[in-house]
Amino acid sequence: MALIEVTGLKKSFGTNEVLKQISFSMNKNEVVAIIGPSGSGKSTLLRSLVNLEQIDGGSVQIDNDFLVKDGVYAKPAEIKEVTSKMGMVFQHFNLFPHLTVKQNLEMAPSLRKTESASEIEKRSKDLLQKVGLSEKANAYPSNLSGGQKQRVAIARALMLNPDILLFDEPTSALDPELTGEVLKVMKDLAEESMTMIVVTHEMGFAREVADRVVFMDGGEIIESNNPSEFFSNPQHDRTKLFLQKNL
Ligand code: ADP
Ligand code: MG
Repeated sequence: MALIEVTGLKKSFGTNEVLKQISFSMNKNEVVAIIGPSGSGKSTLLRSLVNLEQIDGGSVQIDNDFLVKDGVYAKPAEIKEVTSKMGMVFQHFNLFPHLTVKQNLEMAPSLRKTESASEIEKRSKDLLQKVGLSEKANAYPSNLSGGQKQRVAIARALMLNPDILLFDEPTSALDPELTGEVLKVMKDLAEESMTMIVVTHEMGFAREVADRVVFMDGGEIIESNNPSEFFSNPQHDRTKLFLQKNL
């Protein structure tokens, strides 16, 4: 059974139909890269999965539980349960500026109250080490580079032990020389079999790290394939055109 199963997802902003009957599924341990032109609905799709956007129709099922079934949302407690399985990393990091790095990591798990303070502290220490930022535990976000901020954001998302990590253009706001350190952390996660959806313009990352590449245009999934087929043998004219412009 798929870990994420989306069927007939529809979403409009006013009269602008942004997602047109999207159907999509992915398995545990898969890494899916979503690419496509600006405005094609990539962010709205990710945001719909984590309930940051309300959809107008269709179904979203995560790990066999419905977030939305045929356009009807689950009850609040179920929504909370379903969305707690996913962590999201945003283009602009969204760190809390008034909290230190360590506090950024520990805040959500502390509020959840399912672990002791010392357990939380141990995990934040381990995760900061994992993303190479042990020495920045007590720094504030304003004193970090963009690449460091994004690595903190990834560690913070991991603090909630998500089954699935969603990334929305995690390197698009970074200076080019800082993208590598973030992509490296993401590649390490992929190698540890983390299930990930990555919206990205980094074609090299999509080719190397993703198990599958999904191309969106105009609110639709135009095609989806393994990276070697996708890049060497795109099927649709819109995909070919996009790749001509972006490779
Ligand atoms: P992408 O991430 O592929 O660039 P988005 O999902 O951000 O695309 O946007 C898809 C379309 O939805 C665009 O036309 C965008 O202007 C519109 N849109 C996105 N968010 C909103 C919003 N909050 N209100 C109105 N329109 C929106
Ligand atoms: Mg976007």
